[in-house]
Amino acid sequence: MAERGLILVNTGEGKGKTTAALGLALRAVGDGLRVLILQFIKSGGGYGELKGIARLGESIEIRPMGNGFVYHRQEQSAEAMAAHKKAAAEAWAMLEREVQSDVWDIIIMDEINYAMKFGLVSEEKVLSMLKAKPERLHVVLTGRDAPESIIAIADTVTEMRMVKHAYQKGIKAMKGIEF
Ligand code: ATP
Ligand code: MG
Repeated sequence: MAERGLILVNTGEGKGKTTAALGLALRAVGDGLRVLILQFIKSGGGYGELKGIARLGESIEIRPMGNGFVYHRQEQSAEAMAAHKKAAAEAWAMLEREVQSDVWDIIIMDEINYAMKFGLVSEEKVLSMLKAKPERLHVVLTGRDAPESIIAIADTVTEMRMVKHAYQKGIKAMKGIEF
């Protein structure tokens, strides 16, 4: 069978969805593949992966496209939600452009499952984008609560299950481990 691009999903409540995608990116770059990471929700600065990826050379890029943390919808002010929506719309436009550019071997859509859950990105649009993507392109979608429709068309789906998390003992998020 001819090689074709895969759709991978990292979801679930446990830690490791984004870092597994970054691990895959590291492996792929080592083999000369071109990798783009678009971060929905995350707004850049502070994340170790930005500096780490900058050291990996020209064949990999990471772009934080979000507007910071999205809290549960009820707790968001209308202005905050509008800012998230605007950032998500811009991220979406860039994603569609880059998918169709056929420049990349792998595109990682970090936290896009969250973006769908919060209504920042439409599930139908993501489905059509996946169906219309260049044949050879691999895509990775991360984030909790991946929609059933996406799971259904994906090739490889991994659900991280939380057995324990340091956070439960009151240990705060640590540089290099959590961000
Ligand atoms: P990571 O980026 O470490 O791979 P993740 O992508 O699986 O984590 P997210 O849902 O994106 O997890 O959560 C973002 C942040 O919350 C990360 O700093 C992550 O380490 C932390 N985190 C992940 N799972 C849990 C959990 N079960 N309880 C508390 N914090 C968590
Ligand atoms: Mg994540």
